[in-house]
Amino acid sequence: MEKRRLVLTFPASLVGEPITYKLVKDYDIIINILKAQITQEEEGKLVVDLQGNANNLKDAITYLKNLGVTIQPLKKDVRMNKNKCTHCTVCVTVCPTNALVVDRKTMTVKFIPEKCIACELCIPACPYKAMEILL
Ligand code: SF4
Ligand code: SF4
Repeated sequence: MEKRRLVLTFPASLVGEPITYKLVKDYDIIINILKAQITQEEEGKLVVDLQGNANNLKDAITYLKNLGVTIQPLKKDVRMNKNKCTHCTVCVTVCPTNALVVDRKTMTVKFIPEKCIACELCIPACPYKAMEILL
């Protein structure tokens, strides 16, 4: 069994299609959905762990790509630029793993790198560009 942690972006035309059902039924994939959201552009975004044997995973990913789903592997190095952060808390609401939390004592937003799965949902959410990907 192999596991891949991915961000899947579905165009608006595919939102509502039973794609996860097909992944389970046709490709024998175990799906753990870590986060699901509809963006302002009405795209669907899923952060998922896909688990299955290597061939099935490969075929499932090909199936998704052929449908028009954009697949991004998770990048590892996300950081908060403390010089830019205004502690507005917008990112706290989008983070699926509580890697961004409000410290009630100081009323500041803290980034906990050990909890970050690098899903990148906070990157476009931050109005001050304070969440960064290290390349
Ligand atoms: S959205 Fe950006 S500015 Fe606001 S708390 Fe998060 S990192 Fe800081
Ligand atoms: S990339 Fe951002 S939203 Fe995703 S887990 Fe890390 S801190 Fe949370």
